[in-house]
Amino acid sequence: MESHYQEAARMIAGAKRVTGFTGAGISVESGIPPFRGKDGLWNKYDPDILLLDNYTRNTLEVWRVIKKLFFDFFGDARPNKAHEVLAWMEKQGYLADIITQNIDNLHQKAGNKNVYEFHGNSRQFACMKCSKIYPLEDIELTEEPPSCPGCGGLLKPDFIFFGEPIPSEAYNASMYDARHSDVFLIIGTAGNVFPASQVPLQAKETNTKIIEVNPEKSLFTNDITDIFLQGKASEVMGKLEKYLQSFEN
Ligand code: NAD
Repeated sequence: MESHYQEAARMIAGAKRVTGFTGAGISVESGIPPFRGKDGLWNKYDPDILLLDNYTRNTLEVWRVIKKLFFDFFGDARPNKAHEVLAWMEKQGYLADIITQNIDNLHQKAGNKNVYEFHGNSRQFACMKCSKIYPLEDIELTEEPPSCPGCGGLLKPDFIFFGEPIPSEAYNASMYDARHSDVFLIIGTAGNVFPASQVPLQAKETNTKIIEVNPEKSLFTNDITDIFLQGKASEVMGKLEKYLQSFEN
């Protein structure tokens, strides 16, 4: 009998269009904790820090937490095996693109070119007054809070805070993928962040096959997942890579 891995690899190799859909779990083995779960950030910090209104009202206090969580922390993180396999899959033509909920830049660091960031990114800042965008390298992170070199307005990291709209390019790409991909490869997401959680559900409606990688069942597993590869992202993706390579020999 075919193993789940063989079946998943065959499905990917035979597909016309495969989309990766990733969440915080894929970066756990790069040392970045997820929001929820046992070691989740929300066990230590109040999620309200990411309310936009809170940033404008309690700017200094909120900025200090944001800097610690998303900049001191993310800076040194390196892609792990799971990110590397996704980059290899794109290069080999197995993967069309990735829709990621992450803001850590690790897919791009691993080498993926087609990455849509559903929740924005931490590589740049936007001025809340004049809307000008600045790359992270141009921002003095020790300035509390960072301000726009042009107009002096408050700078905000370019990832979305609670209540902000999804960046339109990523949203449109997700909807396109949901309609046009025949396989969705979901890695490391619990499936409870709205509206990102709707993307795989939308894909399923057009008969997309769902392969899911997670050490634990998610909200998708029992409802829409066709093949559940249970385990840590780096281990599972390392194995899947070997099966895909075996088709090439
Ligand atoms: P989540 O925090 O709700 O859930 C994490 C999921 O990852 C869980 O299902 C868990 O079982 C799984 N997981 C844990 N370890 C794993 C591993 N080694 N391999 C594979 N899976 C593993 O994450 P979420 O569903 O992505 O939602 C939280 C939101 O917070 C995301 O949308 C994201 O924007 C943001 N976030 C991003 C980062 C980041 O950029 N790295 C980190 C934390 C939160």
